[in-house]
Amino acid sequence: MEYDAIIVGGGPGGATAALYAERKGLKVLLLDKKHFPRDKICGDAISGKSIVYLRELGLIEALENSPQVKVNHIVFSSPNRKSVSIKLIADSFYGISSGYVCRRMVYDNILFQAAKQKVETLEGFTVEDLIKPNGLVKGVRGRLDGGEEKEFSAKTVIGADGFNSIVARKCGLYEHDPEHLLVATRAYYRGVTGLEDAIELHYIKEVLPGYFWIFPLENGMANVGLGMVHSELKKKGVRLRSAHIAATEAPGFRERFANAQLLGDIQGWNLPVGSKRRQIHGDGFMLIGDAAGLIDPFTGEGIGNAMCSGKIAAETLAEIRAGKDYSAGVLSVYARRLWKTIGGELNLAYNLQKTARFTPLVNLVVHRAGKRREVADWISAMIAGRVSKRELLRPSTYIKLLFK
Ligand SMILES: Cc1cc2nc3c(=O)[nH]c(=O)nc-3n(C[C@H](O)[C@H](O)[C@H](O)COP(=O)(O)OP(=O)(O)OC[C@H]3O[C@@H](n4cnc5c(N)ncnc54)[C@H](O)[C@@H]3O)c2cc1C
Repeated sequence: MEYDAIIVGGGPGGATAALYAERKGLKVLLLDKKHFPRDKICGDAISGKSIVYLRELGLIEALENSPQVKVNHIVFSSPNRKSVSIKLIADSFYGISSGYVCRRMVYDNILFQAAKQKVETLEGFTVEDLIKPNGLVKGVRGRLDGGEEKEFSAKTVIGADGFNSIVARKCGLYEHDPEHLLVATRAYYRGVTGLEDAIELHYIKEVLPGYFWIFPLENGMANVGLGMVHSELKKKGVRLRSAHIAATEAPGFRERFANAQLLGDIQGWNLPVGSKRRQIHGDGFMLIGDAAGLIDPFTGEGIGNAMCSGKIAAETLAEIRAGKDYSAGVLSVYARRLWKTIGGELNLAYNLQKTARFTPLVNLVVHRAGKRREVADWISAMIAGRVSKRELLRPSTYIKLLFK
């Protein structure tokens, strides 16, 4: 049996690709080495971009009816311990003004189960190799949980298999560049005090240009973590787990964690960020989500871009299905469309990340946003995508906001 596409990985990228592909009438096999529901180390923040795709897929109600917390504010604090709470305003395209925090055990399962109702899925199947006659990817070879080997063939393979992508590895595209990789911890706690309907990003000196986060969850739980650029971590000799514990014991946080209970372990994982434009397609294959390294280098958000790339990959496939050519030249349409859609915002996010390496500037921005309504309003407009790219790139914009 030949599928139009085999999608390796049933996270947000893979499940979204499967759902859009099914809408276009494609015959898809969605594979994952795990069984759903499964955990994924993450901050669990679901931003406006992800909500756009959830709405299109008719899954907002499922999210609203699942354990999650709706957030309407972002709290920023600076290395000199000033903080500001910024209200989220409706974004310019879809009018979405709230985000959610939803454990990935729950969120990914909503998407995967929706896909399972529409396309063929196989859980507990680890892809170990690609079938590549004459260099063109034509399928996958792997093993079921019990050890049985199996092969499946398709016109294309979509690598949606996350940071350690076997598809990227077997196509010679896997890399580990510390300047374009964030590393982060994540832990769940119960009983952290002072939680509101806000995600909290604390720019503490030790991890700039990263941050310490506290995100509220249902039943008095919180998702707490800390992340930074890998090259900076190596330069500063930071040990992430120790830095995580130190942050919860630092002045200003110590009181909030005094009676908090750590649920499980402090875990760590990698975030391949889109500050570098990687090769994301080739003869018979496309990479999406973390396998393609599409995480926002400033905020660390990757779910929205995983879903965005899944949709674009599925739509590209649907258009070229009529032909018989799945070579790199034809599949380059996917890469062109993706960079056109998210390339500009990834560049801007990289510039913001580099700027955030200067502690005095972060102090100044938070201080001014706390003092002047105009600056706080401008930041919420920027988050909502209501500030034009031209204005964002003009130095005079920042001089006016920060120094007048
Ligand atoms: C600590 C941390 C905090 C983060 N916080 C946020 C946040 O708050 N908000 C946000 O938007 N993003 C956040 N991210 C980024 C986000 O987690 C990723 O960008 C997102 O999960 C990418 O989705 P994906 O579908 O591409 O990959 P994944 O979610 O990683 O899914 C990949 C799937 O592929 C499967 N798989 C892997 N290898 C194989 C194989 N060989 N065979 C079969 N299946 C395989 C895996 O089991 C998995 O289900 C964070 C990341 C980290 C590490």
